[in-house]
Amino acid sequence: MTELEAIKAALLRERQARKAAEQVIEERSRELFYANEALRRLNESLEEAVRIRTSELQEAKEKAEHATRAKSEFLSSMSHEIRTPLNAISGLSELIERDSRENEIREYAGIVRDSVVHLLTIINEILDFSKIESGKFSFEPEDFALRDLRNQIYHTYLPLASKKQLRFDVDFDPLLPPVVRSDKTKFLQIWINLIGNAIKFTEQGGVSARLSILRKEGNCLWLQGSVKDSGIGIPEADQARIFLPFEQSEQVSEQKIGGTGLGLAITMRVLELLGGRIQLLSNPGSGSEFIFQLPVQVGDENRVSQEKSDDKNENLLYGLRVLVVDDMEMNRFLMRKVLQRVHAQPTFAENGAMAVEILRNESFDVVLMDLHMPVMNGREATRLIRSEQIPRANPRIPILALTADAFKHTQESVLEAGMNDFLPKPINIDLLYQKLRGLL
Ligand code: ADP
Repeated sequence: MTELEAIKAALLRERQARKAAEQVIEERSRELFYANEALRRLNESLEEAVRIRTSELQEAKEKAEHATRAKSEFLSSMSHEIRTPLNAISGLSELIERDSRENEIREYAGIVRDSVVHLLTIINEILDFSKIESGKFSFEPEDFALRDLRNQIYHTYLPLASKKQLRFDVDFDPLLPPVVRSDKTKFLQIWINLIGNAIKFTEQGGVSARLSILRKEGNCLWLQGSVKDSGIGIPEADQARIFLPFEQSEQVSEQKIGGTGLGLAITMRVLELLGGRIQLLSNPGSGSEFIFQLPVQVGDENRVSQEKSDDKNENLLYGLRVLVVDDMEMNRFLMRKVLQRVHAQPTFAENGAMAVEILRNESFDVVLMDLHMPVMNGREATRLIRSEQIPRANPRIPILALTADAFKHTQESVLEAGMNDFLPKPINIDLLYQKLRGLL
């Protein structure tokens, strides 16, 4: 074979090899194309499946949120409905207890009032729990004096402990700072739940509450509180369970000792919210001790509102001209009695529109304004009074809102509407007098 023929043959082989390679490439490309197509279709159907699932989930989430909101609103309105008649029951029994000359009658009135307080505790626990569940439980810090808190706890529980002939002491370490910054209402709630339980489950001996400093971390002070009793104790098998909602220890549910089973669940969530924790030491038969730790800030004494020394002086309300606006006859009757006790002069209106009408013609020192009323509610009436559009009425007259709605946002909304302060129902008579003096 000549050299030329050899080159030709090599070229031919090369061409054939290239053709074969091209064919393979073409085949592979086709396969790749089909595989790609299949992948694209799969991707599309996956995206569609994800889209459908996401929208189903979204719908389910919206339904759940709606149900939670509806439940919260239902609880809020039920609590409002229950508190409204309780206001009259509690207020009138308090008046009877204070003013009656007959011991027996005073005793009956005291029992009625204790029952109202008990009922209110249950309503508040259910409301708090629903707020925790719907994520509406928030941390609201303020500066407060520990001595006031200690006294409040002591005076709230001393009568209950004395009734059961239990020793009761509340010992706050003198080394504690006078003022701390934390959520006072929730801090108090922890004590109330623990001490309330301790007294409830103790028949002999006593209950002691203590608070001291655990350690200092920069600006933050870790406090340790404890509530110890000599009561029935808690069997080991129940010690974890009782912190769950609606759970009670075997013996308590067997003996049908009352309670919602929510107090400790709320206490634990409140402590978590404040950044703290709780432990339980208990010997069944000889008592229990609940120990909690929580961080607070050292507070500023200047930011604590000092109660005026004349706060107890009811004479200051003598002759006070008060316009009471409330649609419930029972509540107007109660207010008449409460105000007449301190020789104030009440006038009454059944709704906001009537109140505005009365303010056109008469002058007053203060208005006590219910919120939910027919024709014109308390917020609308307040806005109208503040708008300076009512001839002869004083647009800056102090207005104190009274409402059975226990929610914090209600308190904020009444201030936004232009009212000066807020008093929850059932009213505490001393607090009403104190707020009235504060407004003058
Ligand atoms: P409630 O007291 O309304 O039942 P809690 O959540 O406050 O609900 O308490 C749950 C349970 O824990 C109680 O029912 C009781 O069995 C038990 N418990 C709580 N505190 C004590 C205590 N100091 N002594 C004995 N048992 C207690």
